[in-house]
Amino acid sequence: MLLDTKLSEATHCVHTGTQQLEGDRGVNSPIITSSAFDYGAGLPNQYPRYFNLPNQEAVVQKLCALEGAESGLLTSSGMSAISTVFMGLLEKGDHVIFQNNLYGGTHYFIAQMLERFGIAYTVLVGNTIAEYEEAIQPNTRLIYIETPSNPLLKITDIRAIAHLAKGKGILTMIDNTFASPINQQPIKLGIDVVIHSATKYLGGHSDICAGVIATSQELLKPIYVAAVNFGGCLDARVCYLLERSMKTLALRVQRQNENALKLAEFLEKEEQIGQVNYPGLASHPDHHLAASQMLGGFGGMLSFEIKAGPAKAEAFVAKLKVISKALSLGGVESTICSPAQTTHIKISQAERDAQGIKDELLRLSVGIEEVNDLIYDIEQALCS
Ligand SMILES: *Cc1c(COP(=O)(O)O)cnc(C)c1O
Repeated sequence: MLLDTKLSEATHCVHTGTQQLEGDRGVNSPIITSSAFDYGAGLPNQYPRYFNLPNQEAVVQKLCALEGAESGLLTSSGMSAISTVFMGLLEKGDHVIFQNNLYGGTHYFIAQMLERFGIAYTVLVGNTIAEYEEAIQPNTRLIYIETPSNPLLKITDIRAIAHLAKGKGILTMIDNTFASPINQQPIKLGIDVVIHSATKYLGGHSDICAGVIATSQELLKPIYVAAVNFGGCLDARVCYLLERSMKTLALRVQRQNENALKLAEFLEKEEQIGQVNYPGLASHPDHHLAASQMLGGFGGMLSFEIKAGPAKAEAFVAKLKVISKALSLGGVESTICSPAQTTHIKISQAERDAQGIKDELLRLSVGIEEVNDLIYDIEQALCS
C-alpha cells in the first residue's frame, strides 16, 4: 500500500509500504522467504540481491515516504549503505569533501579504502561554509556531511551545503542516522543522497543490523549497479523485522526527543557534569540552526563530560542500573558509552583531541523509559 505523500509521518510509519499479495487478507506484509522465483512473461527476474523482493520493497516504500525521496535501497548495514553509495557515484580521479566529526566507521572507511580506489579526499578541520567552499577542487564530485554529528552533536547547515554544491554541480550526501527521518528530512532541504544505519533508530530495538539509502530515481541507477555487484542485500526475515519496527518509529522518536531534552536540561544543572552537548539546549552554539532544520525535534542523542575526569566517568557508568553500558544507539533502552574507548577507538589520541572528544566524554542514547527513572539513575550513580 503506497499512500498519499500529504499524510503525516506517524501514519506513513504504520501504513505505507505494507505488501498485500493476491488472496491475502491479512493487515501485515507476509514474509516471502524464497530466494528462487518463477521467471518469464516479460517480468523482471526476482532475486534477493536484485533488491526487488516484497519485504525489501515494504521498507523502501516506508523510508521514501518518510524522507520525501523518489526511490531507495535497503542494505545489510549502515556501512554497506555508505560504501554502496560511494562505489556507485564515485570513480577514480574524483575528489570528496568530508565534514570532520564523522561516525568512527565512516572515518575508518575513508582512511582505509578511498585512496586504494584512486579517490582523493579532504577532511575539513572546521565546519563553516567558507571552509567547504575553499576545499572545492575542479574534480570534487561529492560533499559528505553528518548532522547532528557523532559524538559531539555538532550541527552542519544542510541548506547552505546543498546550495553551495548545487551551484557547482557537486553531489551531496548525508548520514541522517542520529536525527532519524522523523526529526530531519534532508532531501526536502536540497540534499541528493540520504543514508541511515537502520541498526539504530529505524530498527529501534538493538536486535538487527541494516542500512538504507534514499535518493532520486536518477541517482539510484548507478548506486543500484554498485549494490547488485557488491551484494549487500538483507534477508527477508530481517526486512520484516525492520518493517515492523518502523511502524512505531514516530512514536518512539517523539518520546526519545522529549526524554533527551529533559535529561539534557537536568545534566546542565548538575554540579559534577561539565559540557553537555544537545542541539535542543538554548546553550548549544547552533541551537537556532538545529531548530531550522530538525523540524520534528532534536533527537535522542546527547553527550556530556564528567568534570572529575576519565576514571570518575568510568566509575559513574559502572554504577548505572537502568541505563546500560553498551555500544550502538537508537534503541528503546537507554545506553551509554565512552566514545574514546568504543566508537572512536580507531582514531588516534591526537585526532580525538583535535576533534574535542575527551576521555571523560560520555555519549548517551536516550530510550523510551520514564524519564524520571533515568534522572534518578544518573543521580544515584553520581553520588554513590
Ligand atoms: C552505526 C552508524 C553507522 C554504521 O552503521 P552499521 O549499521 O553499524 O554499519 C553509520 N553512521 C552512524 C551515524 C552510525 O551511528
